[in-house]
Amino acid sequence: MAKMFINGQWADALSGETYQVRNPANGQVVDTAPAAGQADVEAAVTAAQAAFKGWAETSPDDRAALIRKGLQLVEARSKEITALLTAEQGKPLFEAQGELHHFLHGMEFYAGLASKIRGDQVPLPPALGKHAYGLVLKRPVGISVGIVPWNFPLTLMGTKVGPALISGSPILIKPAKTTPLATLKIIGLLNEAGLPPGALQCLTGSGSVVGEALICHPAVRRVALTGSSETGRRVMQLAGPDFKRITLELGGSDPCIICPDADLKRAASGVVVGRYWNAGQQCLAIKRLYVFEEVCDQFVQALAEKVGNYRVGDGTTKPEKPFIRMGPLHTAYQREEIEGQLADAVSKGARVLVGGRRPDDPALAQGFYFEPAVVADVPEDSRLAAEEVFGPVLPVWKVKTLDEAIQEANNTAWGLGSSIWTQNMGWANRAIREIEAGVTWVNQIHYGYDELPFGGVKASGLGHEHGPEAVNYYLENKGAVFGGLDWE
Ligand code: NAD
Repeated sequence: MAKMFINGQWADALSGETYQVRNPANGQVVDTAPAAGQADVEAAVTAAQAAFKGWAETSPDDRAALIRKGLQLVEARSKEITALLTAEQGKPLFEAQGELHHFLHGMEFYAGLASKIRGDQVPLPPALGKHAYGLVLKRPVGISVGIVPWNFPLTLMGTKVGPALISGSPILIKPAKTTPLATLKIIGLLNEAGLPPGALQCLTGSGSVVGEALICHPAVRRVALTGSSETGRRVMQLAGPDFKRITLELGGSDPCIICPDADLKRAASGVVVGRYWNAGQQCLAIKRLYVFEEVCDQFVQALAEKVGNYRVGDGTTKPEKPFIRMGPLHTAYQREEIEGQLADAVSKGARVLVGGRRPDDPALAQGFYFEPAVVADVPEDSRLAAEEVFGPVLPVWKVKTLDEAIQEANNTAWGLGSSIWTQNMGWANRAIREIEAGVTWVNQIHYGYDELPFGGVKASGLGHEHGPEAVNYYLENKGAVFGGLDWE
């Protein structure tokens, strides 16, 4: 039975309540986890308050050394952690290994930044005294909460833990209810390296209970959410009245434009990874594809062939080459959503070019499997075009000009990622300048680099994670003014 990590110790919920974590590949119980409530939140926040001063005063080098020691412990247990991630989340083992690698790389990036946080010295008008100057001090924001979704439980936990810890702020992590296990394992190991009790804690349970209790606790000053736009709205409502610092990494409907001069072979490979990695359950997945008409038929045929190479199945096994493993969707709800969106488009005239159904194999009947699809002739008023498609289905449209492609790309409520495949520098620059999104990748797959700030516009959120920029959300700027320095 898994336990939470509170005040330096493994803990059950004070109520004793638990829930089951199930494997999306076969419905079997992987483990049980505590269902935290208000009393557990109170205990964890009290521990964070007790830890705050000491952690804020720990030297940056010592903070980095503790993080690095923890990362070594995590690396040494990587097999166990990735197996757990595959069992609770459904992604194939090689994707789980990729995710753990990304987590370790991101945490190392922040460990390296710990000693580089610095403020400013600012000359002030001589009216304040001849040598007057101001200082900008960087101070930790205080008790922080990180709320994480189920699609990338480890990397999206790291994008919160890394910047919080190096800023000197204690952080409480609330994983998605369905994916707490690998997270708990990692948080235990990071603590084992010697973090002070209360600096890094983890509470498990539902968003509406434990998530809301954390956000509303008066001692919590900072909330980082990665989740759906709907949850983002709720977090704003709860955190707004008390002026808490929030960042919201929300949903997306990323467009990808394929130009006639693109390297079509590479572009097809890029689109496959961009759309179908993690069974399409990525915020920054390509969710709408716009292909210039002169290369559209050729490109879409090559794409459909590649997508036909996926073999859905248990993530712990591999199909023979050239076939590629795709795991199940994460929940029954997730699969029903995708099926509903596709059925709606088909009822309005869309054509499914490949996939788009549950597999026939009776051995897979207990998992939430769905064969990845490419869909053409998708009406603009269909759910597939208008909603976030959080699964392995890609709608494709023909475009005639770059103007049309960019206009269509912007015709959405979201603005997370976007991409263009072209050799034309002018076109690439126009896409970068004119697409309303937090990122534009040029001739590259959609991926959140640790080094670059990542965040959306419009309904995709507020603020950034990744990069040195992310640390600013865990810091407060305090001004100080030194006047009268020329007094005798
Ligand atoms: P979700 O919003 O349902 O849940 C995310 C987290 O929020 C979970 O831990 C959940 O328990 C918690 N939560 C839910 N309701 C809450 C509430 N009222 N108060 C506090 N916490 C609450 O999202 P999901 O289904 O787990 O994840 C998929 C969504 O996340 C998609 O929309 C996807 O695009 C988005 N996402 C965005 C990014 C990004 O970086 N922008 C990355 C990954 C996923």
